[in-house]
Amino acid sequence: MRYLILSDIHANATALDAALAAADGRWDRVACLGDLVGYGPDPNDVVERIRALDSAAIRGNHDRAGSGLADAEDFNPIARAAALWTRDQLRPENLAYLRDLPPGPVQVNGISLIHGAARDEDEYVVAPGQALACLLETSSAVNFFGHTHLQGGFSFHDNRLEAIQPRPEPGASFSALRLEKDWRYLLNPGSVGQPRDGDPRAAFAISDLEHQVVEFWRVPYEIPAVQKRMVSAGLHDSLVHRLALGR
Ligand code: ZN
Repeated sequence: MRYLILSDIHANATALDAALAAADGRWDRVACLGDLVGYGPDPNDVVERIRALDSAAIRGNHDRAGSGLADAEDFNPIARAAALWTRDQLRPENLAYLRDLPPGPVQVNGISLIHGAARDEDEYVVAPGQALACLLETSSAVNFFGHTHLQGGFSFHDNRLEAIQPRPEPGASFSALRLEKDWRYLLNPGSVGQPRDGDPRAAFAISDLEHQVVEFWRVPYEIPAVQKRMVSAGLHDSLVHRLALGR
């Protein structure tokens, strides 16, 4: 079973469409690591695409805030304003879908889906110690997480934890990580709709455990078109600008 792993789409339908077009024919099922909405201008379009794909999905902090499950009090003012705008926009069936998303970790076909950390869906896992703690709390060999919007992750073997930065070369669409037998992995596909690792292209991954390969993808998309919709929606300037910077 090949999984298309999507995370942190953040209501960016143009980036999602570019990812789906690039990955066409290369996966059997979609897994979504949360934050379908928040920040971006297309919450209904994104939720409807993910629903239509019959994705295995878990919730993120922005799905809680955008659907009214959480009050967004812990968000900064810009993120909170975007969450409240999102809540206003969402059609009832999409709001209900987001509210019903389970928290991670959820296991599907031997992989674990996590938004932040295994013990706390709101934790940003960036340091090796956090990654190790997360791996100790899951039983899957291959675990996918999101929330940081940074493509890459960690491997663990023989008591050694190593960072993985499998970014595609400039001009290349993806780089492949060969999975070693008996190693464990905590991998981040990156953010589809708001990358923060300096590369503004949409990020995602394709996991093929049968062949022991995970591909880390980057695909360009029409950023100005999304920015224009954000401006019309009245979303904050800093959210508009960061898309082009990938930060
Ligand atoms: Zn996010």
